[in-house]
Amino acid sequence: MTETIDALAGLVAGGGVVVLSGAGLSTESGIPDYRGPSGAARRHTPMTYQVFTRDAQARRRYWARSHLGWRVIARAAPNDGHRAVARLQRGGLVDGVITQNVDGLHTAAGSPRVVELHGRLDEVVCLGCGNQTSREELDRRLREANPGFDARVAAVNPDGDVDLADDEVARFRTVDCTFCGTGVLKPDVVFFGETVPAPRVARCFDMVQRARLLLVLGSSLTVMSGRRFVLRAAKLGIPVVIVNQGPTRGDGYAALTLDAPLGRLLPALADRTVGVPAAGDGGVAPTGLTAVR
Ligand SMILES: [Zn+2]
Repeated sequence: MTETIDALAGLVAGGGVVVLSGAGLSTESGIPDYRGPSGAARRHTPMTYQVFTRDAQARRRYWARSHLGWRVIARAAPNDGHRAVARLQRGGLVDGVITQNVDGLHTAAGSPRVVELHGRLDEVVCLGCGNQTSREELDRRLREANPGFDARVAAVNPDGDVDLADDEVARFRTVDCTFCGTGVLKPDVVFFGETVPAPRVARCFDMVQRARLLLVLGSSLTVMSGRRFVLRAAKLGIPVVIVNQGPTRGDGYAALTLDAPLGRLLPALADRTVGVPAAGDGGVAPTGLTAVR
């Protein structure tokens, strides 16, 4: 265990690290990882862009669930893992963060230079006119349009979706864009079946190509939108280190893989490389670390 974190610290201490983070980093903030160990009981598939744009009934279902799920997302706070990444950035070892998460928790933890690959759930875009508004504002409008809508939150997925009975969905009223009057509103996140905007992808490739080390945190690398950065790093001979609970689709490209709880490992890593903070997070010896290879 100590040897494993020493090996990781040795690699990170050289600096030039780019972090690629996924849902596993936010599970300790109460946002379930639907592909990780705790996500096996996921009850429905995520909304696709195609269904969302073509099917008004599907949109109603999405917004009804998402309206409830948003309350959980909105009160989620960064955990020790997010804070440790921010410390590694302030310490000059991590140059930038690419995150697949839409929860905004890296930024909330104080991380500069974060590219939110799949967008942010706290922003809303109009598909008609492109006007952007805050989710807070939309939340207020949806509450006004749906007085007494108090369906119970049964389960929450990372995209802010929850389980909801059909009759509750049927009663839910969606709202349109206030700017153009008719446009369909969509959370400003990349749905399944939708592509990440090209300039954002280019910015991420640029970060990866300049990196000395690509550090993957809490992603099973199931989706190509994240895995492609691992493939690019491997092609360029840039070492890849993966810390995730469970195997990933990038393990074959990794110089080192660690199966560890990120909220413990990352503070310990920051302590060893940028120093123990005066007070607050970190300083706790990690337990339960298992070297995979
Ligand atoms: Zn509009």
